Amino acid sequence: MKTRVIKLCTALLAFGVFSGCSPTSATSDTQQSRRGALTLSPNAAVAQANDASSRQAAEQSKRAEFPLNLSDAQWRQRLTPAQYHVLREEGTERAFSGEYDKHDEPGVYNCAACDHPLFSSQTKFDSRTGWPSFYQPISADNIATSADHKLRSKRTEVHCANCGGHLGHVFRDGPKPTGLRYCVNSVALKFEAAGE
Ligand SMILES: [Zn+2]
Repeated sequence: MKTRVIKLCTALLAFGVFSGCSPTSATSDTQQSRRGALTLSPNAAVAQANDASSRQAAEQSKRAEFPLNLSDAQWRQRLTPAQYHVLREEGTERAFSGEYDKHDEPGVYNCAACDHPLFSSQTKFDSRTGWPSFYQPISADNIATSADHKLRSKRTEVHCANCGGHLGHVFRDGPKPTGLRYCVNSVALKFEAAGE
């Protein structure tokens, strides 16, 4: 009888261990496939390595190309720490934290760093992402774009065309008529109500 009980316990223990393993192995499969999905193709890896070598130089020349070109000390003096982080260090404000996310008054959104007009309230829409979103800039000449390689998936960074300040990114999942979504940090914008 004692032997049978021990055998039963062993069987139950074994069952418990195996059934307990199942979710773990499922998780590790999922992690594996996630890892697989993030693995770059050889060509992409080579392209990324080449990009990395010239990235720093590109960043520097990118900054010098804009009409308003202040020194780092001047920008620090002109901007709040939060503005400096987004506009000069390409930071991103926390989703749903910015003052213009749910803002729908008529007017123009200017660059917070240099007052250059960037977006009209007429092209603003609720993207539900937590950041103010527009389907087009006030004029194509008022913004500039560049490739952003900070994440594995390449994104298109959007700058103010006057001072080069980082505004956010543009994605191809916006509404009609452009199909674009300019995802912009509130802190990089300064709203001017219509008629002011
Ligand atoms: Zn600007």
